[in-house]
Amino acid sequence: MDAEVIAIGDELTSGQRLDTNSQWLSERLGDIGIRVLYHTTVADDLDANLRVFRQAVERADVVVASGGLGPTADDLTREVLAQLTGGELVLHEDIVQHIRGLFARFGREMPERNTVQAMFPAGSRVIPNPAGTAPGIAIDVPRAGREPCHLFALPGVPAEMFRMWDQSVGPELVRLAGAPQAIRHRRIKCFGLSESELEGRLPDLIRRGRTPSVGITVSAATITLRITAQGASEAECQALIEPVAATIYECLGNVVFGEEEDELEHVVARLLAERGKTLATVEWGTGGLVAHRLHEATAKSGYFLGGIVVPNDVALARLLSVAPQVVVEHTPVSAEVVEAMARGGRERLGADLTLAVSQFPQLSRADKTPQRLFLALASADEVVVRSAPHFGSPDFLTTRAAKQALNLLRLALLDQK
Ligand code: ATP
Ligand code: MG
Repeated sequence: MDAEVIAIGDELTSGQRLDTNSQWLSERLGDIGIRVLYHTTVADDLDANLRVFRQAVERADVVVASGGLGPTADDLTREVLAQLTGGELVLHEDIVQHIRGLFARFGREMPERNTVQAMFPAGSRVIPNPAGTAPGIAIDVPRAGREPCHLFALPGVPAEMFRMWDQSVGPELVRLAGAPQAIRHRRIKCFGLSESELEGRLPDLIRRGRTPSVGITVSAATITLRITAQGASEAECQALIEPVAATIYECLGNVVFGEEEDELEHVVARLLAERGKTLATVEWGTGGLVAHRLHEATAKSGYFLGGIVVPNDVALARLLSVAPQVVVEHTPVSAEVVEAMARGGRERLGADLTLAVSQFPQLSRADKTPQRLFLALASADEVVVRSAPHFGSPDFLTTRAAKQALNLLRLALLDQK
């Protein structure tokens, strides 16, 4: 069965609000094995809605819509579904009583216009709404020579929609789709390779139609591999996932840094505690982002001793005693300067390990030579200097640089058994 997800509202089409309902619904549909082929977003406009719903019913076996079920004049979904199915809107007296009761509970009289929320297209079923007034609508729309299309209209308010899905729509679709009882995911987080390099190291795991399936997503250079297994029970799912995860670990080694909600700083925080090492940071290009992340991740452990942020060479001289001529001689984006930063930070803060991030190289459109930034890690016996690629969208350059620094630290800590 294929599905279409429809989001309704002027707020969405005008760009005032981002449509997160469709994202949520699509994940749920995917979980029960129903593939979503289309997302449609439509304004609060009767004709436009009718066109959208007619098309959806033709091209998808399941249609799930959100929005437009409120009591106000711009809430048109009821009317649209009645016209779509050629039926009347019928008043459900029990629902009127129910809504009246909800208002009474708050000591209020039900405004007359709320009765519209008890109107349902003939032949439809009520989807109870335990969290609000507007019930949803379920209706099977007949199609010539084919199975009917299963259509569900839910309120736009996310909290209401979630509960109605969980209690009614989800279970009904599981029955309809004959989906397996259990679905389990496992997310394995990687850093340090590009998406294509990483895929190249995995033996044909990310192939369409493979089971368990392995999906790949990238967010600011962190790559997540998501294994999904379906089976009769949770144990069966886990048994299917286990060998796939083992293969991933074997092929990627220490490119894998964690699982599920782990970020690099959490792993670093754990390693610092395990090794009993204290840490300090000195940052130029990242402007304190590495310290910020470590500060949160090490909140109670005390292994992060502090961070120094330098915005320019004046601060470098004042805060870290890096002589101006070192910067002039080697340029700010150099192995020599980042090494001096790490040494200066070590003297000031006295941590077992001091991580330094250089200034960012200037990126110009004209110059196509790949740019690199410098990272240094000072310990009692040495200063290790590395360079890391620096390119791509300005939106995530800083985040990626912070991750590159944290990853250098992670790998060094892993080496110190
Ligand atoms: P209500 O009874 O609250 O009027 P409704 O079914 O009419 O419910 P809408 O009026 O379309 O729903 O939306 C109510 C609120 O729900 C919106 O103001 C918005 O905050 C949120 N919302 C609606 N659609 C979406 C969406 N697709 N993604 C995220 N939030 C949404
Ligand atoms: Mg509304």
